[in-house]
Amino acid sequence: MKPVILSVGVSGSITTREQNPNLPVTPAEIADSALRAWEAGASIAHIHVREDDGTPTARAEVYATVIERIRAGSDMLISGTTGSGSGLFSEDERLNVLSARPEIASFDAGSVNMGRRVFNNNPDFLDRLAAAIIQAGALPEIECFEIGFVANTVRRAKDWQFPGDGRTWWFQFVLGVSGASPGTANTLLAMRNELPPRAEWSVLGVGAAQLRMAHVALVEGGHVRVGLEDNVWYRRGELAQSNAQLVERIVRMAAELDRPVATPQDTRELLGLDQDPDTSAG
Ligand code: ZN
Repeated sequence: MKPVILSVGVSGSITTREQNPNLPVTPAEIADSALRAWEAGASIAHIHVREDDGTPTARAEVYATVIERIRAGSDMLISGTTGSGSGLFSEDERLNVLSARPEIASFDAGSVNMGRRVFNNNPDFLDRLAAAIIQAGALPEIECFEIGFVANTVRRAKDWQFPGDGRTWWFQFVLGVSGASPGTANTLLAMRNELPPRAEWSVLGVGAAQLRMAHVALVEGGHVRVGLEDNVWYRRGELAQSNAQLVERIVRMAAELDRPVATPQDTRELLGLDQDPDTSAG
């Protein structure tokens, strides 16, 4: 059976300590939580960063600090966010993470309502973001909140040079967001069915959808992201203790379903990132 790539959304920019006091918020806490998740089986750390006082930031120096600390303690891959920090960051600031040389960078492939705001990924910005990610040598992690995001990315692939030479398409379905697609098996499989050939896909479900989406992905040959960015709960009425705890549960489920957990090296091979020394963590 194909190994399952486990990603951890360590902190995000929106989740707060009020929602879960176990949330890592300083640069050191974010890096250390990623390392504990790696020990538990995660091979990709999806990283947002915050200042020492916990304020979300997009400063390149802070990305570099967090990424260096993770690389000093592990061989996990870094997926840097290019998100807007819930509207805090300008389009320029959203590209800052690329200077810290993550192997993977998120590419939110369209605009969508999120709660009361619009997550703006307009066509001009997408062109610019695509060029910046490829230029930086990163693999785009194509975050799809809606099925049209998949179709439009495939349509634009040639212009954007996606997924990059020798690399595998890497899709992250984002389901259960208030304002967008529900976290149901029907939605997930419909999106999966629109993928181009030679694509790997992962899913993150927000809140209560996290466990359900993970289960479907394990059964259907997909990959899984969990973490406090997407879900602060372990189960109804019980807050998660850590990112590692959320990863450990998926590792147990994967074992029951005969899906070995991908090591970072397995993940590099699956995503076609193993042949480019320039972007390996070393
Ligand atoms: Zn994120």
